[in-house]
Amino acid sequence: MVDVVACSDGIKVSRPAARRLERHGIPLRTEPIVAFEGTDGVLSKIRFESGTDLDREGLFFSTGCQQASDLSQRLRCKRDEKGGVVTDPATEETSVPGVYVAGDVSRDVLLVAVAIAEGAKAAAAINKAFLRRDGFCE
Ligand SMILES: Cc1cc2nc3c(=O)[nH]c(=O)nc-3n(C[C@H](O)[C@H](O)[C@H](O)COP(=O)(O)OP(=O)(O)OC[C@H]3O[C@@H](n4cnc5c(N)ncnc54)[C@H](O)[C@@H]3O)c2cc1C
Repeated sequence: MVDVVACSDGIKVSRPAARRLERHGIPLRTEPIVAFEGTDGVLSKIRFESGTDLDREGLFFSTGCQQASDLSQRLRCKRDEKGGVVTDPATEETSVPGVYVAGDVSRDVLLVAVAIAEGAKAAAAINKAFLRRDGFCE
């Protein structure tokens, strides 16, 4: 049997998310967490502000993410509901002609390999745009 508990550390969980957890038989603890306890770097217990403990052997966590710079906003690049810059997937060009982005700023898949690939695609598209501007290609 899988023994998984979801902890939101004091953050309110949306009703659809709570319902999904319930459907899968995963208990939800919403109290703030005050400490992780263990020995030699191995987790044994989660301590909650409510004064209760939860014995655990492992933990997966999500840090969330947000853009550190508001440059894309100032340039008026179109953004999606998550705040990611919307790009043309073929060229990585944004809604503002001549502005290209790569990496987490587009909030597509947040991986180093994807950021590198998007950078390469953007570079190729920028080079092509210059060649087109200078009459070297269609
Ligand atoms: C905890 C964690 C674990 C991860 N683990 C993995 C993993 O195992 N494998 C994997 O592939 N990916 C992993 N990622 C995702 C990966 O780190 C990112 O997808 C990748 O770094 C994106 O590259 P980027 O260049 O878009 O952004 P970043 O690497 O975040 O680079 C942005 C840079 O811009 C700088 N900056 C921000 N604002 C300004 C400003 N105003 N002026 C000047 N500079 C500025 C920042 O200091 C930073 O150096 C992880 C991310 C996190 C947070």
